[in-house]
Amino acid sequence: MRRFSTVETGRLGERIIKLAEKVRVRANLAEKDIYVTSGMDGDHGPRPHGSHHYGLHGKDGSRSAAIDFGALDDSEHQKKDERDMQAFARQWEKDLADITLELIHTTPFRDDSGFYIKEGKRTSYGAATAKAHRNHIHVAMSEKQVTAAEKRLRSTSARSALPKHAVSDWWTHHVGEKGLDYSFDRPAPDASWKAGYRFVMRYLSWRPNDKILTKSELDALLKRGFAVGLNWEFDASDQLRGREGGRKDGAEALRQARALGAPKGLTIYFSADWDVQRGQVAACKAYWKGAQEALAGQYRVGVYGGLRAVSAALDGGYRGWQTFAWSGGEWDKRAHIRQTRNNFKLDGASVDRNELRSLDAGLWGLSDEEDMMIFGKVKGKAAVVKALQDHTYVDMKDWPAVKRVLESGGGRLVEFDSKEQLEAVLGKKAA
Ligand SMILES: [Zn+2]
Repeated sequence: MRRFSTVETGRLGERIIKLAEKVRVRANLAEKDIYVTSGMDGDHGPRPHGSHHYGLHGKDGSRSAAIDFGALDDSEHQKKDERDMQAFARQWEKDLADITLELIHTTPFRDDSGFYIKEGKRTSYGAATAKAHRNHIHVAMSEKQVTAAEKRLRSTSARSALPKHAVSDWWTHHVGEKGLDYSFDRPAPDASWKAGYRFVMRYLSWRPNDKILTKSELDALLKRGFAVGLNWEFDASDQLRGREGGRKDGAEALRQARALGAPKGLTIYFSADWDVQRGQVAACKAYWKGAQEALAGQYRVGVYGGLRAVSAALDGGYRGWQTFAWSGGEWDKRAHIRQTRNNFKLDGASVDRNELRSLDAGLWGLSDEEDMMIFGKVKGKAAVVKALQDHTYVDMKDWPAVKRVLESGGGRLVEFDSKEQLEAVLGKKAA
């Protein structure tokens, strides 16, 4: 793990950093994402007994140490860095909360309530301390806790440390596959996948709004293999606000898509969620134009709506997501997505059903390539064949994390660029 040149540590501090390395891998973070910003150096209150940084004792009587971790490299990637710190703190809490003296980290996000552990329990440290820990994660442990943590993380096998859904079937997205959209209630990704759905449309909107897609939710969906589409809607009739409305909504949609890390070129579908009348199409068109201007070439404009709105959008070169509502039983064959049914229950959530009509829909993770690979502690052809039979494939986007975990567990990896290459190596057709 990288560290600031000023960092000074003792032996216990070094052991905490080694633990942090394991937590980083388990949190699916790359090596460069998290680094050590402070140990026994720096200003952490009066020495020698003002802080665990300079050594105190735990309740168990053994001596303590504290290390600070950070991620903020530069302002350009601030959001990502903040998410990395959140992921690291969350993983630490999940794995080691009960054997941690102090964990202190505050995030700007709405999908956590801060990470504050004292003597193994959730606590609150007060506003000043919370504020002082927005740009780093403070961790303190006693020697006995470190020993217990080393044992706990050692006993985790490489395989079980894999992100739960890194391993998926050799899934290739295709026209005709089923998808979902939903707002406030979310079904678990596993439940949706098992029910046969393969893509999900999720909301961006003006904040605060609980229907907005969160980063952790997005990560879980992508990891499970879903393609994810972005859909802007605040008010059903947003688009009657014309060009200026499109500019405003588009600017916020752009900001949120970027914050999520959405790849350039994706579509953001803007909702015309009412029965658009002939006399209202002009206002909608102006709105789309305003949105397109605001997206600044980063993302493409799509339109959700009934036949009249979506056909007008497709005529204008935008992408289209047509709902059966307000369509009189007629589909525009050019539409990229169809919404075919509203308001049924899946895993306790109210959801709508959709169907993918084009691989050019501009969804995140949508590709017609067979982008899976085999992985594992593979030794020889027999093991490869066995792995094939066991369907141990991994999506390319999970590959760096999977590779790190396997290598740290002493695994030997065999990588293939395509199914054909794999079949060539095996000298037979893959199962
Ligand atoms: Zn600290």
